[in-house]
Amino acid sequence: MLRGQKALVTGANSGIGLATAIALGRAGADVVVNYVSDRDAAEDVVRRIEGFGVRALAYEADVSDEAQVTGMFARMLEEFGTIDILVANAGLQRDAPATEMTLAQWQKVIDVNLTGQFLCAREAAKEFLRRGVVPGVSRSAGKIVCMSSVHQVIPWSGHLNYASSKGGVLMLMETLAQELGPSGIRVNAVAPGAIRTPINRAAWETPEAERDLLKLIPYRRVGDPEDIASAVTVLASDLMDYVVGTTLFVDGGMTLFPGFATGG
Ligand code: NAD
Repeated sequence: MLRGQKALVTGANSGIGLATAIALGRAGADVVVNYVSDRDAAEDVVRRIEGFGVRALAYEADVSDEAQVTGMFARMLEEFGTIDILVANAGLQRDAPATEMTLAQWQKVIDVNLTGQFLCAREAAKEFLRRGVVPGVSRSAGKIVCMSSVHQVIPWSGHLNYASSKGGVLMLMETLAQELGPSGIRVNAVAPGAIRTPINRAAWETPEAERDLLKLIPYRRVGDPEDIASAVTVLASDLMDYVVGTTLFVDGGMTLFPGFATGG
């Protein structure tokens, strides 16, 4: 599905990013596995991707650091020649009630979740514009998939910084899609619901917590990273070539106002 394409996945040594990097490799793409800590985990992802007969490279960079991001793209172009797919996935939480949230907690989440996506998207778009469409590789000059969240539309008490960052990702994605569409570049987002990863371990690790969580999910199962990885893979492929500026919710129905299931 993605043979001959070059992909970069940020935060690719854990959770959703890890599953996505592997899914893209399985679909035939060469993959840069970005990580900020735990090199061993990143190298393990590289080995798993290489098992599909494609190339992979682990690269350490903090997505919120401009120089590290430009360095990462320079290395990718040197190593793989170009980039066709960016999955801007890296993200984190620093939770606190609004009145107790420190500026550092606010800033860290905005820096990584929003500014990090901007910096990576900017560098990917420069290369997409330079190179243009390559017939036989993809109908598009390049694809960006922003990892958003159901919290781009669902307010989330105790997580003001995180929800604000994902609301920002929505406008980042849509504005980029509008601006870059005429150049043949597709920008879209995937918005996961509750996915079983380290970021939200507290929400699913005890049976009581999982039971509460399932009340918010009409489809009554917690998602797996592979649920998101397959959505990203299809969205980045030419099967979705006419999909531009859209958020694909992959959430078991979490955004269907489940509290109203019994009439409200
Ligand atoms: P995770 O904690 O397993 O993975 C996050 C990854 O981002 C890790 O590899 C981490 O090292 C990396 N990262 C953090 N800061 C970074 C930085 N400065 N530079 C580079 N990488 C950095 O969590 P996850 O659930 O896999 O989260 C991935 C994305 O999915 C995030 O954007 C998150 O907001 C989003 N998301 C997750 C869920 C969920 O339920 N798990 C739901 C909605 C959205």
